[in-house]
Amino acid sequence: MLRVLLRACLLMIATVFPCVITTGTPPVAFAATSVSSAPPLFLRAQPAVVTIREPTTQAVQIQPALLVDTVPLPIEAQIPPPGEMTAALPGAMVPAPGIAGDGPPMPGTRVAQTGRIDVYVGLRTFTPEQVAAITPRIERLLRDNEERFGFMLQSRVSLAFYRPSLAPSKDTRGIAYTEEGRAAVFYRPHEDIERALVVASHELAHHLQAQRYGEDIQKRADIILLEGLATWITGPPWLAMNGAESWKARARQIRDMGVPLRLLQPQRYGSDIAYELWASFVDFLIERDGMEKLHLLYASGRSREPGSSDYEGVYGASLDELADEWRAWVGN
Ligand SMILES: [Zn+2]
Repeated sequence: MLRVLLRACLLMIATVFPCVITTGTPPVAFAATSVSSAPPLFLRAQPAVVTIREPTTQAVQIQPALLVDTVPLPIEAQIPPPGEMTAALPGAMVPAPGIAGDGPPMPGTRVAQTGRIDVYVGLRTFTPEQVAAITPRIERLLRDNEERFGFMLQSRVSLAFYRPSLAPSKDTRGIAYTEEGRAAVFYRPHEDIERALVVASHELAHHLQAQRYGEDIQKRADIILLEGLATWITGPPWLAMNGAESWKARARQIRDMGVPLRLLQPQRYGSDIAYELWASFVDFLIERDGMEKLHLLYASGRSREPGSSDYEGVYGASLDELADEWRAWVGN
């Protein structure tokens, strides 16, 4: 009976919770159920999803998408067999001072724990040994993210590696379920685990945002800042994949590929390009007026719509005017 209840709860977690890219529309809460002493789990109506995938143009060569955060896990990504939840590889545990306890359980095998992250792996993706081996690097990426963002993770996060067929769309490489303290990345067995690490780091950046600003703000964050800041927080490892030394340099590369430096609708050139242009804009804003003003701007978001934040109120300039300044900043 308990197992049946657990399966039901996990199904709800895996199928109905929104990920980070949703509209600001408050979801509808229904009856609650609970797992042990955990807070109640609320069934939520599926919020409208702002898709950030659009067809790439013919003119621009775009790398395969690094990630698209979209909707929650499909039903398939289910339920570990009994005992799998707590199975750990010998030697895989990484002792580090951090947040006590366990992260939220996820389908698959838990292969390692760091100070703040529980790491799970499913079937037909990287091997448990591979994932366990990179776990200390995930913790280091998190620490670097925290340093850039100036905020430390407050509660444990569970991160899972799954095969792409479990992703909600073929383009989806990563998802952060910030309300649930969970994140997942989707890779095939022989794909580049270095890229998977960067995606994992980006999803952890969303958790830092949610824990820094609170879920209420996170749900209505302007997508330019939501994804731009998460990508900015991910920082050097992301830039290194493109051989760029800074977000300004990356914006120049993108412009030189023939992509216009625009903040609205850059998704048509691929989600990675959009995220990178937005990260460059965030970098410009931080250089212009510092981190505190960026925090204010982030908190002023009214919905996922690009431009929903109060740019005029916080910076004394409209989004259009700031975009002009940003293009001048990117320069030649
Ligand atoms: Zn994201």
